[in-house]
Amino acid sequence: MKKILLLSLILLFPSFLQAGGPWKVDTITNSGVPARWPYDEDTGKWIIHWRVDPGPMTDGAIRVSSEAAVRDWIQPMLTEWQSVKLPYAADADPIQTVAIEFVLDGELPEDITAANYERWLEPGEGRYTPAFVIFDHDGSILEAMGEEYDKNKLVGLAEPLLDSTEMRIRGGYIILNGRMINGNPSSTTDAEATPEQFKAVIKHEFGHLLNLAHAVVNTEIALGCAGDSCNGNQGISTMFPDLRTVAQYTLHVDDKVGISWLYPTQDFQDKFCVITGEIQDEDGKGLQGVNVIASAVNDPWIDARSFQSGALYAIGTENGRYILAGLMPGVDYEVRYEELPVTEETDISAGYDPCSTECPSGFGSGLIAGPDGAASVHCDEGGRTIGMETLKISLAEGRAIDGSVSEGEGGGGGSGKKGWCQLERTADYGLRTTNFLGVFVFILILLAFRLHIGRAR
Ligand SMILES: [Zn+2]
Repeated sequence: MKKILLLSLILLFPSFLQAGGPWKVDTITNSGVPARWPYDEDTGKWIIHWRVDPGPMTDGAIRVSSEAAVRDWIQPMLTEWQSVKLPYAADADPIQTVAIEFVLDGELPEDITAANYERWLEPGEGRYTPAFVIFDHDGSILEAMGEEYDKNKLVGLAEPLLDSTEMRIRGGYIILNGRMINGNPSSTTDAEATPEQFKAVIKHEFGHLLNLAHAVVNTEIALGCAGDSCNGNQGISTMFPDLRTVAQYTLHVDDKVGISWLYPTQDFQDKFCVITGEIQDEDGKGLQGVNVIASAVNDPWIDARSFQSGALYAIGTENGRYILAGLMPGVDYEVRYEELPVTEETDISAGYDPCSTECPSGFGSGLIAGPDGAASVHCDEGGRTIGMETLKISLAEGRAIDGSVSEGEGGGGGSGKKGWCQLERTADYGLRTTNFLGVFVFILILLAFRLHIGRAR
């Protein structure tokens, strides 16, 4: 029994931290199916039941009740996720493309604090149903969780949790650090988020709870802007790993397409087109961890969506498939491949598995050819799928060798594996998020193992 538990945990582990598309996938049968919340036949929607910590949200000048926090901060973010619309034609109004509904099941039976949080985070069967939001009003829960969880930097963390099939989400949690909005912005040890920044993080964490991974479009804009210089820019996804600008408070097309592909309305499937393809290495083996972006030729910063190759499969699978959805009929799109921006300088160091500890790098970026080597592609009516030429990347030589329109430029890359989402004050970038969830998951696994040994005795 112990072996079975360990094995299942090991199998679970590689599924974490995938990017540009869904986060957690079925690693039991490696079927290429992402985990989703339960589907309700009556409403035709995927339903997310959640409950809230009855404790206060902050401990400072603007302390509020959990009721007020839900009403003013959380509910508006949920409303935006569940009412995502996209335009399917230039002369038509945007239509509803996502079919999800959040249902608040009330408060948890006790205030979650540093004294009792462990009991709530234990991965006992049924424990995480439904999802819940914990208000860590003074950062003391994060402090109790260990020194990797810096209460002075971490704003929120989130995780959806899967049932034993790994195809369905059975719950999850979000922890929000009220210390970041306690009205006490004291120097470097106690960063202070604005309400807009805090809400952007809440929106980001609920994106994770819905099983969205980190996503990167417009890398050059995201990495090039710092502090106020990128304010107002709408080119950076809410699910970008860093909070670079409060503009990420607004969902980007990349976020909207990502959530609509996971939880689509019939309209999304009927009125939009899809691009698929595969990235391979020089030996013809599927290559995970390459960022692929389809963007409109006439509106490349805004009408863009990303998918990380192989993200539907467990880490280490030789599968480099990508799926780019939400394409407007009649619009020309270019499909670009690039390295994930994981460098020492940016420190955007996680959320990019399935490349695990080392994302492929050194091959630069370029366009992927469409049918007959076309540099751009389009569909004439919704419901169509466009297959791109398979792109082969020579990792040894660091360049694309086949299936690309233009030659790659080469470039550096790094790696790192951390895990939960945080927002911290830095000299250059203002507030930023980083993902450290993997570490947290590992702690959960250790807890589960300890728990099991306890029972075995
Ligand atoms: Zn995140």
